Amino acid sequence: MAAPMAPADWRRALKAEGVRFIELDGWTTRGRDQATGKTFGPVNGVLNHHTAGRDSLDLIAYRGQGAAVPPPLAHALLRKDGVVVLVADGRANHAGLAAKNSFDAIVAEKPIPRPSKASGTVDGNDHLYGLETENLGNGTDVYTRAQYDAWVRFNAAICRFHGWGAGSCAGHLETSVEGKPDPKGPVDGYGRRGRFQFTMGQLRADVHERLAHAPSWSPPTEEVTTMPDYVNLGLAHGYQLAPGTWDDVEFTTEWNDEAGDHDPNSPTFVEGPAGFTGSVSFRFAHLPVGEVVQVRMSEYDAAGELKANHPIHEVIGTAGGTFSVVPLTKRVGPGRSMRVRLLNQSEEHIEVASAVLTAWVWEG
Ligand SMILES: [Zn+2]
Repeated sequence: MAAPMAPADWRRALKAEGVRFIELDGWTTRGRDQATGKTFGPVNGVLNHHTAGRDSLDLIAYRGQGAAVPPPLAHALLRKDGVVVLVADGRANHAGLAAKNSFDAIVAEKPIPRPSKASGTVDGNDHLYGLETENLGNGTDVYTRAQYDAWVRFNAAICRFHGWGAGSCAGHLETSVEGKPDPKGPVDGYGRRGRFQFTMGQLRADVHERLAHAPSWSPPTEEVTTMPDYVNLGLAHGYQLAPGTWDDVEFTTEWNDEAGDHDPNSPTFVEGPAGFTGSVSFRFAHLPVGEVVQVRMSEYDAAGELKANHPIHEVIGTAGGTFSVVPLTKRVGPGRSMRVRLLNQSEEHIEVASAVLTAWVWEG
């Protein structure tokens, strides 16, 4: 139970929720409050309809259905292009009599039972916002993607404003004691979902999902693709490697890192979760012939603790300088990172003249 949204509330809530809307002239003062002597509100929910027609704005805002059902016939019209037209801020003739058992369920945000006239009736126009979504209602006319997306957003905007859950959203067919069938019909799609039949259960599920996110959220529209990034790292300059201890190769971004996320001050060349495949080529100077430099990949956690060592490759000194290509292929889990380390097993200081790492790296 709450006071109805004022025009400024509508504008703010719809804008935040990403609803494209236009304001029909006079909408802020349009309503049946004066004519009926009944003030709109307190409000308890949103009632959703289809228009069962085309170009329904004139009918909803100005013409109504004769003397028996004068306009406005809704608070808002949702067009095929997904744009909402704000029609009225006051009482609107959309709900008719709602079965009390259904209405009570909406107020309590409980599953809505089949409307029973025997349970009594409530004037739905007193307490429910009304949205008319443009559709022929013939069971074959399709709600567009833009329309359904805005439909979810519109309902969520009102629920979010009032602090309601998706259980405050209902369809005319769920409250009507006259057997109204709306809304119904096929929906072209929503998010990653292809064509489906409109149901209030699905709309509520989508509103519920939306309310779990920030109002600026949009449903993801396609599977996330993991295109590998090409990474090409090198050394800023050659360096001396003393005998006897494992030492990180500190790759820099002087060479191209297309992913752009390699920290030049970190020996890490990939952070998990990721897979990679490539190689690192080394050129060593002053490594005596027949002596060995060991190369290995080592895995670290977020705190920089060594967690795992991967198989060792040996590079053996050759006359006139040593050149070797070592393969790199591995997965690193979440929170883990990988370094390349060297152990100079000779007795001499040697020079790591160059190290070039090229790899395809992908997330996951
Ligand atoms: Zn209706």
